[in-house]
Amino acid sequence: GCIPSDQSLTGLLDELSTSTMGPALPLLMQRTLAREITLEEVVGAGRYGSVHRGKWREDHVAVKIFSANDERSWFREIEIYQTVCLRHENLLGYIAADNMDASTYTQLWLVTEYHENGSLYDYLMTHTITIPTLIKMMLSIASGLCHLHMPIDSTNGKVALAHRDLKTKNILVKKDLSCCIADLGLAVKEVRCKPKSRKDLLLANASDQEHVVIDIQANNRVGTIRYMAPEVLDGTLNDRNFESFKAADIYALGLVYWEILRRCQISSTENDAEKYQVPYEDVSQGNPNADQMRDIVCVKKHRPPISERWTTHPIVRPLVQLCEELWIEDPTCRLNSLNIKKQLKKQLELLENDLSYINIESQQQSTQNNGP
Ligand code: ADP
Ligand code: MG
Ligand code: MG
Repeated sequence: GCIPSDQSLTGLLDELSTSTMGPALPLLMQRTLAREITLEEVVGAGRYGSVHRGKWREDHVAVKIFSANDERSWFREIEIYQTVCLRHENLLGYIAADNMDASTYTQLWLVTEYHENGSLYDYLMTHTITIPTLIKMMLSIASGLCHLHMPIDSTNGKVALAHRDLKTKNILVKKDLSCCIADLGLAVKEVRCKPKSRKDLLLANASDQEHVVIDIQANNRVGTIRYMAPEVLDGTLNDRNFESFKAADIYALGLVYWEILRRCQISSTENDAEKYQVPYEDVSQGNPNADQMRDIVCVKKHRPPISERWTTHPIVRPLVQLCEELWIEDPTCRLNSLNIKKQLKKQLELLENDLSYINIESQQQSTQNNGP
């Protein structure tokens, strides 16, 4: 369990992703590391307790502290982070878990990499961004979601997961302004059971080689009401097909992209970014309940408004069309994360080939943090 005194955090984590050690450090090492952390400051509060910035040796870490009553949420989130082959630059990096017994209470810790820019929500509230950053953020979130969603078939293959609470508060902004997806506590895994006998095969759907189930008894209406897909709101999500959970994530991704688009400066001469809004703020302020949201999204079929300044720009217009393909009512018609990634890569190439942007970009850098 000892960690050499000259061992750095990045060294420790780099080893993890390249070695055959598995998805996480050995448990004893996790505990040893956690107990060397000093907590410095509260950086976030969520549904289950608080998130602190902590220090381990020379590095900052984030410590999410659950109360003993929330042991099940703590355990579930750790279980998800320890999924084989989950590590990815656009998913929050798991470091350690520990249950600490003080004399009168138990604290449950979840230690992850720390990102000083905080959540995408906090970032967009206080900053406007440029077009290259817009695409960088969109592509990085799509890459994280794609890694989460895709099963990888190899010896130690990765299962498919769906997030179920995707929103700007659950996405973190890294130093280079690319993003990573966090708060995996509500995620579900796809578990494929190979039919064991001929009888199982006959019982299964004739076209099915495998029987697909979800790893936990899932309550289908979880997540954040404002970001719930129409099929979640009206209870028509088909929970026998794992693709349904992915499609609900894609809907939420569309809303996230819209939030980012609003904060992007498109004009080369002035900062024309709109002020930050949560999705559907134009029709519902405060904390709408699920019935009110269902009325807006399923009955009135309202969707986030598209600003004219977005659609007149050659690079941005396709990104707006992309959003509209993510929040389509029929979940089977939404793009999947792989296609989203491909489209965004294409836009990034177009942007990189268009040298005229380099000038605009450098002009924008100087005005960046002074948005409305
Ligand atoms: P909850 O499950 O309670 O919503 P989250 O994991 O979403 O908890 O964290 C709550 C908030 O704490 C986030 O919205 C973010 O502002 C902040 N936060 C969480 N993890 C980190 C981190 N690794 N680095 C920086 N800030 C973080
Ligand atoms: Mg959260
Ligand atoms: Mg959570």
